[in-house]
Amino acid sequence: MSHAPSPDVSAPQGASPAARSIVALSGGVGGARFLRGTLSALRAGALPGVSPDAAVTVVANTADDWWIHGLKVCPDLDTVMYTLGGGIDVERGWGRSGETWAASEELAAYGVGPDWFGLGDRDLATHLVRTQMVEAGYPLSAVTAALCRRWEPGVELLPMTDDRVETHIAIADDEAPSGRRTVHFQEYWVRMRAQVPAEAVVVVGLDRATPAPGVTEAVAGADLVLLPPSNPVVSIGTILGVPGLREALQEGPAPVVGVSPIIGDSHVHGMARQLLDSLGVEVSASAVARHYGSRASGGILDGWLVADTDAHQVDAVRDAGIACAAVPLLMSDEEATGRMAAAATALVLA
Ligand code: GDP
Ligand code: CA
Repeated sequence: MSHAPSPDVSAPQGASPAARSIVALSGGVGGARFLRGTLSALRAGALPGVSPDAAVTVVANTADDWWIHGLKVCPDLDTVMYTLGGGIDVERGWGRSGETWAASEELAAYGVGPDWFGLGDRDLATHLVRTQMVEAGYPLSAVTAALCRRWEPGVELLPMTDDRVETHIAIADDEAPSGRRTVHFQEYWVRMRAQVPAEAVVVVGLDRATPAPGVTEAVAGADLVLLPPSNPVVSIGTILGVPGLREALQEGPAPVVGVSPIIGDSHVHGMARQLLDSLGVEVSASAVARHYGSRASGGILDGWLVADTDAHQVDAVRDAGIACAAVPLLMSDEEATGRMAAAATALVLA
């Protein structure tokens, strides 16, 4: 890391004390990549207004979770855990490094599908441990803590809820009596590559879910809340949909600052476009900010970063009552990502 310790960290007299407690909401690959750069910059003292030894709690989306081959798989929790714990396949951005696929090949040889969802051999061990613990009665939060004892991700990693919540996507189907059918999020994303228009997003179980232990407490005790550029519908949107969480952010003491997942009219890598379309939200950085809304007017944001190439949208975000700056937002490497995090904290803390 090239970050020099920053003098910003020791707050000048009269300024607020440096933040010591950070909460981040996260999906999978986008969130994890942002958090890795954020943590390096944080520990190097390069985040304005933040103490280098600040504690970080990550609340991860669990609505992508599903059961396959009798195993409980939690893609976003695992992506964050492997990425921050040094076990991720860096090229792919998900799954284990040094992965092999013998078990998947054996399943295929038995003709047991689905053949579009790869489970690596190393990754399988994680799902076996998790499934045994879940079936023995442990809540997902306790299972996650147990898995993290191996990976030591350097953050407290919490599932958004211990309850079963699953995102399903409604797509057109001429053969169905209603003209549409729903598929599990994984089928939409992994099998269909999100190539079919999403007509609606249905998050089964979300309205009855409760935040996992520690989640609302972490938000209530935070000095800063970060929203990585995770998918605003099926990552951040589902977390905010857990009853009580949006209110905790609105009423909490911490400023909330987010990073746009949209640059120009593109979701960079991912599928945010299809899902924003299904909500009728324009695919732009300022429209996503307005979709989240300002804390002053019942939304959740105090600050929002748009890409330097979207500088013309800054005024539209500010007009919505949200502090805004335009900076490079491509997470091309850890240093570039760390600079994004520094710009985010500077916006609301410095
Ligand atoms: P997932 O759960 O694996 O889909 O990951 P997330 O929801 O955490 O993040 C996916 C989102 O990250 C995508 O929809 C993109 O909009 C966003 N994203 C990916 N790469 C970049 C990047 O380099 N810069 C920005 N600003 N956003 C990105
Ligand atoms: Ca995800």
